[in-house]
Amino acid sequence: MDSVVSIAIVGSGPAGCYVAQSLRRALPESEITIYDRLASPFGLVRYGVAPDHQSTKSIQAQFARLFERENVRFAGNITVGSDVSLDELRSTHNIVVLASGLSEDRVVGVPGEDLPEVHRAGRLTRVFNAHPMEPVGVPDFGGAVAVIGGGNVSIDVLRLLIKRPEDFANSDVDDTALGQYAQAPVRRVEFICRSTVANAPSDPVMLAELGRIPGVAFTCSDPVAVPEDATRQASARAKALEGLLELAPGPQTRVQVALHFGWSPVRILGADHVEGVELRSVEDDREHRRVATDSVVTAVGFDFDRHNWHGLGELSRNLETGALDRGLYRTGWIKRGSRGTIAENRACAKAVAEEILADLPALDPAPRPGYDGLPEDVRARAVDYAAWRRVDLAEASAAAHGRARKKFPSHDHMVAIAHDTLAGPSGAGNH
Ligand SMILES: Cc1cc2nc3c(=O)[nH]c(=O)nc-3n(C[C@H](O)[C@H](O)[C@H](O)COP(=O)(O)OP(=O)(O)OC[C@H]3O[C@@H](n4cnc5c(N)ncnc54)[C@H](O)[C@@H]3O)c2cc1C
Repeated sequence: MDSVVSIAIVGSGPAGCYVAQSLRRALPESEITIYDRLASPFGLVRYGVAPDHQSTKSIQAQFARLFERENVRFAGNITVGSDVSLDELRSTHNIVVLASGLSEDRVVGVPGEDLPEVHRAGRLTRVFNAHPMEPVGVPDFGGAVAVIGGGNVSIDVLRLLIKRPEDFANSDVDDTALGQYAQAPVRRVEFICRSTVANAPSDPVMLAELGRIPGVAFTCSDPVAVPEDATRQASARAKALEGLLELAPGPQTRVQVALHFGWSPVRILGADHVEGVELRSVEDDREHRRVATDSVVTAVGFDFDRHNWHGLGELSRNLETGALDRGLYRTGWIKRGSRGTIAENRACAKAVAEEILADLPALDPAPRPGYDGLPEDVRARAVDYAAWRRVDLAEASAAAHGRARKKFPSHDHMVAIAHDTLAGPSGAGNH
């Protein structure tokens, strides 16, 4: 294909940004547009990564260069599937890459999961991150909560639950959510991980970080030691846990955290309300344990959002290839499932970009108009990068003392700032 290639990338999270980076390098003349349903770029870096992990969020500066220097267009506020259909996108662009992530919390699949006090980690982390499409409101967890998971997202949830408001200095946490939670913080957390310490999916550094939060007492009724031939990561995890168990917060203890590694949830107990969780040992299934809790947070991964968009139906996992159809590809979590760090999306995106480049000679050579071929009303609603920067600056200048920024929790409000149609002179800062 000799003509200018027009490329649509759906989703501006790490996968979308990394694939744009690779394609821009290989195809300097191509027209690349990254579409997102939100008015802001960067996906889960902004709305998943915990608000008290600002150094992780700083990768946004690297991705921003795409829009600032590398002639990649950002088109936010466009939901593929409702504002524009996937077919429309495919007929106006030579290549479409889906990088729209996975946003639906996976269920554990045990009885009792539909009780009202069972909450989902995805929703919770979005609330604390002021996601503009998530209804505001922190649930009442009662005095004791069980966190079911064991991966890094469950540790994020645990950390959010056991920190005091003053531990969020320099974060961009949503202060309304934080204030609501501070009214009735939990006093006990049962942290339930199906994997043993040796096989758990958690990062030892994140476990060790928990030990720096004042007033938390950790207990574990199982041995945390790992076999001598365990991996370095497993040994580091065991060491981090031993460090937590050695802490002695004494009379200052605000919250107890009971760790259960190698215990699988069997059912959530309670007739109309959560009363606890029954666990079974993964090493000896005759051994059961019951923990009493008032609520549960599940953090067992994410799935395809069937309610959201593009009518592709269930997409089976395929680690081998990014191609879904002629000219249609996918990368990131929507390809590999919800595992891996931000950086792991880079290798995935690079491989998919190489696949696209290899397929190019065989694609329909007819030029397609790209972004300009979309209906005018769609383009009129788009939040481009300059418009997003207006929101970005408004958020930074609305930051309270000790906060990195104040994220606006209303999509319409963000779009109004972006399009400069906000009524009143002080609306942005006062929202
Ligand atoms: C709570 C949480 C915390 C995490 N913390 C860390 C961490 O600390 N460090 C780390 O390395 N990794 C972390 N991760 C993992 C990391 O966020 C993922 O690896 C990465 O974001 C996946 O990238 P993605 O681009 O595939 O998806 P996403 O980041 O989810 O991006 C998808 C984008 O697509 C957009 N989109 C979806 N549907 C549509 C549509 N119909 N039309 C237009 N746009 C659409 C979304 O708005 C979004 O911007 C965390 C994940 C979660 C859930």
